[in-house]
Amino acid sequence: MNAVLDVRGLGKTFGGFTALNGIALTVAPGERLGLVGPNGSGKSTFVNCIAGDFPDHAGVVLFRNRPLAGLKPHERARLGLSRTFQLPRPFRSLTVLENVTVPLRFSVPPLPVADARARARACLERVGLQDKAHSHPHSLTQVDLRKLELARALAPEPALLIADEVMAGLSHSEVDQILDLLFALNGDGTAVIMIEHVMRAITAFSQRLAVFVAGRKIVEGDPQTVLATPEVEAAYLGT
Ligand code: ADP
Ligand code: MG
Repeated sequence: MNAVLDVRGLGKTFGGFTALNGIALTVAPGERLGLVGPNGSGKSTFVNCIAGDFPDHAGVVLFRNRPLAGLKPHERARLGLSRTFQLPRPFRSLTVLENVTVPLRFSVPPLPVADARARARACLERVGLQDKAHSHPHSLTQVDLRKLELARALAPEPALLIADEVMAGLSHSEVDQILDLLFALNGDGTAVIMIEHVMRAITAFSQRLAVFVAGRKIVEGDPQTVLATPEVEAAYLGT
């Protein structure tokens, strides 16, 4: 199948607790998929499994038809899989520019430093952080930290970007800025999984929507239809 991501039977337990159970999900190249669900429903765990943080998960993850089992997070990143972290964790001792440049230096083949820096600058411009290139992360506002997280994630020119709640806590206009950015990135052909509680953004962005509740995917499909299903309404009213 010509999917960028093809997840089958994904499961994850923490001790006796089942965080994910039999998740199947595919993403087509260039697609915009929304993933929603109450807090604790397993969305970030899903991302962590795909990204290689939990190698003991059950099931199969294919990325561009390649099984990812046994690959470390940085090896998965090299294949074109990028994710943001719900809590951005930039290198505090590095400047904004260096934060985007350094990971590119470790790509395979490694980008020469001048090329890495040029690419990083272009990414900072893209997210609107060019004026903060020489600042340190501690001086950034919340929205700028999210933009830095996105610049870092888009720098390797990924085939799939998973954005895990990059809009949480942002103002209306800040949400719009991030939304524009994700649309532009998708316009270049990058498939995007948007995990969000900001429903306005999810409905504007998603071509398809999947809903997780208690570690299971309960419904998937056209966003308007999905959001109108009684199970989804119940899941949200129950939180
Ligand atoms: P979501 O992102 O949908 O809010 P998470 O994937 O973060 O949910 O968490 C799903 C469940 O798994 C929660 O009950 C959470 O406490 C648990 N969980 C997540 N990560 C870990 C971990 N590293 N160790 C133990 N439990 C975890
Ligand atoms: Mg989460």
